[in-house]
Formats: sequence, structure tokens, C-alpha cells
Amino acid sequence: MPFGRGFFLALAKSSYLNDHVTKWGFVRRATRKFMPGEAPEDALNACAELAKGGRGTIFTKLGEAITNAAEAKAVRDHYIWLFDQIRATNLPGHVSVKPTQLGLDIDAKMCEEYTFELAAKAQACGSFLWIDMEDSAYVDRTIDLYKKVKARYPDTGLAIQAYLFRTAKDIADLMTVNPVIRLVKGAYAEPPHVAFPRKADTDRAYYELSDTMLQAAKAGNCLPIFGTHDVALVGRIIARAKELGVGPGKYEVHMLYGIKDAEQMRFRADGQVVKTLVSYGSSWFKWYMRRLAERPANVGFVIRSMLG
Ligand SMILES: Cc1cc2nc3c(=O)[nH]c(=O)nc-3n(C[C@H](O)[C@H](O)[C@H](O)COP(=O)(O)OP(=O)(O)OC[C@H]3O[C@@H](n4cnc5c(N)ncnc54)[C@H](O)[C@@H]3O)c2cc1C
Repeated sequence: MPFGRGFFLALAKSSYLNDHVTKWGFVRRATRKFMPGEAPEDALNACAELAKGGRGTIFTKLGEAITNAAEAKAVRDHYIWLFDQIRATNLPGHVSVKPTQLGLDIDAKMCEEYTFELAAKAQACGSFLWIDMEDSAYVDRTIDLYKKVKARYPDTGLAIQAYLFRTAKDIADLMTVNPVIRLVKGAYAEPPHVAFPRKADTDRAYYELSDTMLQAAKAGNCLPIFGTHDVALVGRIIARAKELGVGPGKYEVHMLYGIKDAEQMRFRADGQVVKTLVSYGSSWFKWYMRRLAERPANVGFVIRSMLG
């Protein structure tokens, strides 16, 4: 297929497109399916709307692999401000951050310091801090960072990717820190010696890992979060949770804003704990290419918005 997953993940690496496409009005309009707007206020308004239907929000300001310390500090300052907004408005909002947004590529100590500050602020505001997982080159450093932060601030969680061969072992190791794990399939282009090339293998691994995590939840060792739009898979996981006697609240279902919205509401109506990850900010190019890679048919939104 000419416009398959690999095509969009290759485009995501282009700095030229990153600098230019974000200025094209018709592509900006197409992103609105997946983000309520670029301003943090747009995300806060979306959170208030989602809360009316009983869904929590996870905020994420787009931007990754930043290249100077001032930008990392600006991201840290932004999230400190956002936690204050969450507390002031009493909204059910959490935050999710990428280590490279906090400067992991520039200075690992600085990244660690900012992550600790954000975790402390989340705790002070009655909120929660998530650490996203980026491509496989960052996995060791991100897990180490999470273990350190989690030891001091329990209300922190980590994303883990089912497509990586190493993940079963990573999850087993993480059990020592009573983790909160958001299990996702994985969004990056990875070589075949690192991750399953076939989607069916990732799907199978996801279910097996979810079973391990539910068994750990039953023993009180883990809070599993299932971050996927694969509704049939979520159905199987919920059935397995029931079988094990692990009730809603001992696990959660998280999805992205604008994707499977009716199903999100249906899971919520069925008594599940559901949270929606809301992205905002102007650095959306790489993130948007990953959304097109997940479902190339999404390119239809771009074409339709180009045609007005
Ligand atoms: C809350 C949350 C947090 C995430 N955090 C991370 C992270 O930290 N690191 C990381 O690598 N990845 C992350 N991801 C992305 C994840 O790895 C997958 O790339 C993404 O969720 C698509 O896979 P899927 O599980 O939805 O399953 P799929 O099998 O790909 O899709 C299941 C169904 O959902 C629909 N669907 C999936 N994606 C889209 C889309 N973009 N547009 C429209 N329909 C779609 C498909 O049509 C299909 O019917 C996160 C995802 C979620 C939901």
C-alpha cells in the first residue's frame, strides 16, 4: 500500500515538513478531529465537557525531542501552570509528558529534576503524572526514570509498548515498584529485531500482557491501564478481569480524544473507568503523522479539509 504505516512514520521524521506543514490551514483544520484546539484553554474546555459524561482527561502538550534547555524549562513551567489550573477549576485532569520534552536528549539530570518537580506538583494538586514511552532507544532510560520517581511519588504512571519483544520482562521487573502501567500497542517505526513486524503478533502480546497485569492487580501489585481503541480487545480484557474478580477501578480504559468516542461513552455507561487523552499545542506534526499511520484512512480528513 503506497500510503501505509511506514510511509507516515517516515514523514514524521522530516524536520522540513515539521516546520512547514503546521502552517498549512487545511492540515490544521484536519487535525481538529483529534485535538480540540492548539491552546491549553481549548484542552481545559474539552476536559470540562468530558467530565460531564464522567470521563477524566489526560492532558498532553505536543512537542518532543526538543534541542535546547530553555525549551525544556518552558515545558516544565507550562505544566506547573497547568496543574494550578487543574486545581483551581477542580477538573479531573492528569498530565502526560515525554522525557525528551523535558530535555532527556540534552541533559538527563535536568530531565530527572523536572520530572520530579512535576510529580511533586501533581501530588500537591491532587492530580497524577504520566510518563509517555517514546521510541525503543529511550526505553531503558525512561524505565529507570520512572522507577526513581515512583519511589517518591506514588501517583505516577508509565506507558509500556506491547510491540516490543522486551516488554514481558520489563513488566515483570516493574512489579517491584507497584507500578501504574498504561499498556499501549506502540506508535513508532521499530526494526524487526526489536518489535513484532506483524500487527497480529502485537495484538496477541497485548492480550497476554494484559492478563499478567490483571493477575498482578488482583494481588495488589499493579494498577493496569489499557490504552487502546481496539474495542474487541478491550471487551476480552474486561471479560478476563471479571473472571479474575478484578473490578472496574482496579483497572482503567484510556483512549485518545476524537477516536472511538461513542465506544468510550459506552464503556463509561457500563461502569468502566474511562479517561481521554487530549493533545494540544502547535508542534503537532509528528504526533499527527502517527495518527495517520495508525489508520491511513484518516488521510481522508486532510483531503476533505483541503476541498473545504
Ligand atoms: C491513552 C493512550 C496513550 C498512548 N500513549 C502512547 C505512548 O506513550 N507511546 C506510544 O508508543 N504509543 C502511545 N499510544 C498510541 C498507541 O501505541 C497506538 O499507536 C494507538 O493507540 C493505535 O493502536 P490501537 O491500540 O488503538 O489499536 P489498533 O489495532 O491500531 O486500532 C484499533 C481500532 O481503533 C481504530 N484506530 C486506531 N487508531 C486510530 C486513529 N488514529 N484514528 C482513527 N481510528 C483509529 C482503528 O480503526 C481500529 O479499528 C497511546 C494510545 C492511547 C490510547
